[in-house]
Amino acid sequence: MEICHKSSALQVHTFAFLSIPPDILFVKLYRHDIRNFLGKLTLRRAWNVAKIFSSYHLTRWLRRPVQWGLPMTISLEPTTACNLRCPECPSGLRAFTRPTGNLKEDFFRKTIDELHRELLYLIFYFQGEPYINPKFLDMVQHARSRGLYTITSTNGHFLNDENARRTIESGLDRLIISVDGTTQDTYESYRKEGKLEVVLQGARNVVKWKKQLKSKTPHLIFQFLVVRPNEHQIPEIYRLAEEIGIDEVKLKTAQVYDFEHGNDLIPTLKKYARYEEEKDGTWRVKNQLLNHCWKLWHACVITWDGLVVPCCFDKDALHRLGDLKQKTFKEIWNGADYGRFRSSLLAGRDQIDICKNCTEGCTVWAE
Ligand code: SF4
Ligand code: SF4
Repeated sequence: MEICHKSSALQVHTFAFLSIPPDILFVKLYRHDIRNFLGKLTLRRAWNVAKIFSSYHLTRWLRRPVQWGLPMTISLEPTTACNLRCPECPSGLRAFTRPTGNLKEDFFRKTIDELHRELLYLIFYFQGEPYINPKFLDMVQHARSRGLYTITSTNGHFLNDENARRTIESGLDRLIISVDGTTQDTYESYRKEGKLEVVLQGARNVVKWKKQLKSKTPHLIFQFLVVRPNEHQIPEIYRLAEEIGIDEVKLKTAQVYDFEHGNDLIPTLKKYARYEEEKDGTWRVKNQLLNHCWKLWHACVITWDGLVVPCCFDKDALHRLGDLKQKTFKEIWNGADYGRFRSSLLAGRDQIDICKNCTEGCTVWAE
């Protein structure tokens, strides 16, 4: 089950008009956040977005890969380490088959300096808990100085008073805090070793420093992944967010790996389920597996040690499209391995392990 704070935040409302996901129809507008995001859109970045968008649609029409642009967003992994023990997560299980470690600041700077002219926003998380990397906020500051909109997602256990202040000072634009339960029992049923009160206090610290420093950023989000054990707490998460002063609550639908014969985690409230029951009692994914993928055209993921992989579903970097220790990003993005992966997806998404049960084409954000 994907119940991680490592979610596809790029489909959040601010970007919907660029990503054109179906979610655009359901989004609520946050004016300051949108203005802030649009303020990052230089002519060169806009031109790049136009190139990606036209390449993607031309690809669908020709049914062969065309890519004229560079990614408008990347996810960069600050670390593979995590303090929690969530049972379905490679960081929580300490179960990676790839090398583990912390992103180094000089490698980060080199990558951002190569890409920032076209890049519009940086998703500063993949696996692991970002705040564990001691240089994390310095790196946010660097990305910010290059004019990027920066987003991170945290389990909220490191937002002590000092880190909360430094977060505001770093200029981070969006902070997603995972809160998947409003009581300790529900919360720790998945967030093993997590302490709900620490997370809530961390959120309060950030709100306090935001006010004290008179800052409009970061835009604060409580992300609540809806599963059967916590669905009854949905009204309560809204109440808590309001009480603390959080800007937004995002309810996220959960990906479940074993769904064919039902799964106790699939919510009973249909609106929050990615799966539906057939007449014969089996279950299926609600969305169709279409042989194209906007995410593959406009984004990519870079692991802490420089491996380039297609998207956040490749948690263990099984589809390595290049290594930034050996090549530049542009060489990788326009190289043969990337081309082959794009072609194989167009030929049959159901033939690629990570693409079979992914969220591309379905509603990730229920509200
Ligand atoms: S173990 Fe850490 S990285 Fe994994 S889901 Fe839990 S909080 Fe997220
Ligand atoms: S898993 Fe495949 S279809 Fe899904 S986002 Fe990644 S590349 Fe696209």
